[in-house]
Amino acid sequence: MKIKKHLKIFISCIFLVALISGCATIPVGENIATYFIGGVTYYPLVTLCDLRGVTMQYDPLIRTVYLSKDLQHSSLRVGDALVLVNDNTLRLNNPIDIYQGTIAVPLQYKEQVFDVLFRQAVLVHRRPGVGKIRLTKVVIDAGHGGNDPGAIGKNGLKEKDVNLDIAKRLSNLLKAEGVQTVLTRSTDKFIPLSMRVSIANRSKADLFISIHSNAARSRSLCGFEVYYVAPSVSDSKRAVLTSRTTALNLKGADFASNSQELKTIIWDMIYTNSRAESIELSRSLCKVMDSSIDADILGVKNARFQVLKGITMPGVLIEVGFVSNFNEERLLKTSSYREKLADGILEGVRDYSRDMALVEVTTK
Ligand SMILES: [Zn+2]
Repeated sequence: MKIKKHLKIFISCIFLVALISGCATIPVGENIATYFIGGVTYYPLVTLCDLRGVTMQYDPLIRTVYLSKDLQHSSLRVGDALVLVNDNTLRLNNPIDIYQGTIAVPLQYKEQVFDVLFRQAVLVHRRPGVGKIRLTKVVIDAGHGGNDPGAIGKNGLKEKDVNLDIAKRLSNLLKAEGVQTVLTRSTDKFIPLSMRVSIANRSKADLFISIHSNAARSRSLCGFEVYYVAPSVSDSKRAVLTSRTTALNLKGADFASNSQELKTIIWDMIYTNSRAESIELSRSLCKVMDSSIDADILGVKNARFQVLKGITMPGVLIEVGFVSNFNEERLLKTSSYREKLADGILEGVRDYSRDMALVEVTTK
């Protein structure tokens, strides 16, 4: 008991000394267990993230880790030495590894990327409207409609109306940038989910954006969030099904064989690629919104929304705010806030399109 107490005081003293001497950053690396893999020092990534307050998300299907803090981000793939640092690539001397069930990063990544990138919050205020949007066509899906009002606020605001208005505003903004748009509905009409999916897939668009407004039992809950299609075990099954029902038109590709298996593999690749792109878009949207609207950014999430499941292009579902929250219902009623949201989504799309590589596969 006594020893424990002394230890506690000792730790408090160290912390106090660190504070007094102006040491604001936690000395990462001092007391972290390291691994030696093939003669190289590795660090457990989860520990580094805990110490620096870095958010870590892992997509097991593509074995990719997304790290973010404030506006800084980095992506790493297990087994790969190529890492993304904000929007630049960096090739490490050693790959990201898994050791004793935990993701491990080489010393070089810790020192050259992690410690530099996540040292302090650097707020970069992007100038909006810079750079052309490198997309040809975007499908905008206003959630609900007709006899399906979606969520309803305490003061009567209907989700379907908010969704449609923001969808139309976004469509106008995109068209002004030279991007074609397809709306799954442009009036107060009920459209079944399956029809929304087929409209999207037939359009051969580059992106699918579904707009919704949230509702929660707790009236205090508020904020903006983006969902991408969740990784699920049924993805390979889905690829098999789609390969049977959808004809592939591969640009510049000449396949001797046109087997079912080959088609399945290609569809699987499209889905995996679409998911990575969807995650990128989600991140861009949250990043831009964080600096453009005065709402909580609840972040990027994955979910098995039926509308996102069937689409063959990168897609996201945006929950612009909570109509169940008194303040957000009031805001969502105003055209100025809706315009702000549409503008933020446009800037998110611009940010995403800046470095994306379009998948050179289209469906017939
Ligand atoms: Zn909805």
